[in-house]
Amino acid sequence: MTKLKTDLLIIGAGSGGLSVAAGAVQMGASVILLEAHKMGGDCLNFGCVPSKALIASGKAAYAQSHASVYGVADVTPKVDYAAAKDHVADVIEQIKPVDSQERFEAMGVRVIREYGRFISPKEVQAGEFVITARRIVIATGSSPLVPPIPGLENVPYETNETIFELRDKPGHLLVIGGGPIGMEMAQAHRRLGCEVTVIEGMKALGNDDPEMAAVVLERFAAEGIEIAEDAMAAEIRGKLGAIEVEAKDGRVFKGTHLLMAVGRAANIDKLDTEKAGIETTRRGIKVDAGMRSTNRRVYAIGDVAGGLQFTHMAGYHAGLIIRSALLGLPAKERTSHIPWATYTDPELAHVGLTEEGARKEHGGNLEVVRFPYSHNDRAIAERKTEGLIKVMVVRGRPVGASIAGAQAGELINLWAFILANNLKMKHVANMVAPYPTLGEINKRVAGAYFSPKLFDSPMVKRVVRFVQGWLP
Ligand SMILES: Cc1cc2nc3c(=O)[nH]c(=O)nc-3n(C[C@H](O)[C@H](O)[C@H](O)COP(=O)(O)OP(=O)(O)OC[C@H]3O[C@@H](n4cnc5c(N)ncnc54)[C@H](O)[C@@H]3O)c2cc1C
Repeated sequence: MTKLKTDLLIIGAGSGGLSVAAGAVQMGASVILLEAHKMGGDCLNFGCVPSKALIASGKAAYAQSHASVYGVADVTPKVDYAAAKDHVADVIEQIKPVDSQERFEAMGVRVIREYGRFISPKEVQAGEFVITARRIVIATGSSPLVPPIPGLENVPYETNETIFELRDKPGHLLVIGGGPIGMEMAQAHRRLGCEVTVIEGMKALGNDDPEMAAVVLERFAAEGIEIAEDAMAAEIRGKLGAIEVEAKDGRVFKGTHLLMAVGRAANIDKLDTEKAGIETTRRGIKVDAGMRSTNRRVYAIGDVAGGLQFTHMAGYHAGLIIRSALLGLPAKERTSHIPWATYTDPELAHVGLTEEGARKEHGGNLEVVRFPYSHNDRAIAERKTEGLIKVMVVRGRPVGASIAGAQAGELINLWAFILANNLKMKHVANMVAPYPTLGEINKRVAGAYFSPKLFDSPMVKRVVRFVQGWLP
């Protein structure tokens, strides 16, 4: 056994772990980083990056078959599914160097390619090393949750860890799980020429505001994606090429391939957390508002901390750790300004409180304003008029914003900025947006908030009449 000592030990080199490592080493701390599998974690290898790359392939195919509306003949796209996967692999290759062992070692981080597991409250074993650290950060992420549905053990299935390497195009993809991951993959595959059925135990996109989710669901139906809701998978049978999923109510769905996308399980199994006095819950490592575990020397960030599971959340957590563990400053997690987006077409994006949440929290003080894409000139020009923005406002201050429509993930950035800085609707109204951009919907929704106050106000009318009376 080789003993090592360091200021900061980070377990897991995904979005969260890499961000902490880069920040900490550049600020002068000694850092050891453990990674048992691929540098870059889920986001680079099995998550955000490959999924967005495959979605881009789907978009390219869809554009070919839906061009006549622009005066360009529709053609049936010749999809080469394996080549689309080459494109996905190439995109990963391009981004990979940023997360590579070489880059982090060049920064001064000691990278050890082993699993880390606690052997005491202060020590972690990784292969032949026993590491003691002033502070330890668990950033081990999550894995696909695969529930024990009867029969599944005998049927081949894909998860997000395998689907991007599948090279034979599924004839009919069955997707169990209608959350963001399942829905993104469903649409990408449909557009690449597969039949697709989404089997969802409750409601598809059920974590989103139903009014916004409906925009996406309508498009899915138009594209021929079958969505079976309230269909809890009870039994799975068959073999590759002929798979059947039977729901509790007796409905049977038939397909050639199966993708399991029912949720995520925190990666805590291999950590031996009990040896370090670190409590866990069903969702992951139990942490306080400062991301500290029940062992004061150990923090947990990103997916394994059991909160919002996004790359930008892990990055945000990393910033908190730098403040707290390195600079000794107070750091408290806040989620009211964290946006998220689902990259279906149309996209869904959200930040802050949903309408339902805002109503519960603010009751009669809540005003909800909407503006539809169909009144945006750029959206009309590009024939992308489905969708809307809605903003939840309390006494002039937005407390949440939801967008369903083209580029929603880009457009939500403004509202993430507004909420992060506690700004008001007047700040959005003061902005001049270039014409014609989709971004004008942000300004127009602020206009929709102020218009009734301005145009329906007897006081404003009186002032105008008074001023007009004085003008020569
Ligand atoms: C299909 C899919 C699409 C997604 N799309 C998006 C998106 O568009 N936008 C977005 O924001 N988020 C997206 N996500 C979520 C995002 O990928 C995660 O939130 C993010 O990767 C979490 O980062 P992390 O650092 O917590 O964990 P990870 O990135 O998963 O990194 C954890 C790392 O720890 C390693 N590890 C685990 N246990 C140990 C151990 N004991 N010792 C050493 N190493 C260990 C793992 O091998 C892994 O590399 C997507 C996820 C999936 C599955």
